[in-house]
Amino acid sequence: MANMKIKKGDTVVVLSGKDKGKQGKVQVVIPSDRKVVVEGVNIVTCHTKPRRQGETGGIVKREAAIYASKVQVVCPKCSKATRVAYKIEDGKKSRVCKHCGAAL
Ligand SMILES: [Zn+2]
Repeated sequence: MANMKIKKGDTVVVLSGKDKGKQGKVQVVIPSDRKVVVEGVNIVTCHTKPRRQGETGGIVKREAAIYASKVQVVCPKCSKATRVAYKIEDGKKSRVCKHCGAAL
């Protein structure tokens, strides 16, 4: 399994593309694709067809997955976008901010 530096619930900022600069919470991590789904980022519009009689079709907007390499974690302490560093303490690996050293 690929090691994903980004975890569900992280606040991330988009580094490139049409949503550059947008921030949101990671909702889903897909390690096999190295992709993440971020709240409010990469919104796609889906047209749904009525499945049953009496139902109306509609337009649904939802987030599509983007490459994890296109986002960076935003440190909750210093509010800077950071690359994730690792610190090993008591045999436990933890993620830390490269700017301020806070645990992520
Ligand atoms: Zn920080």
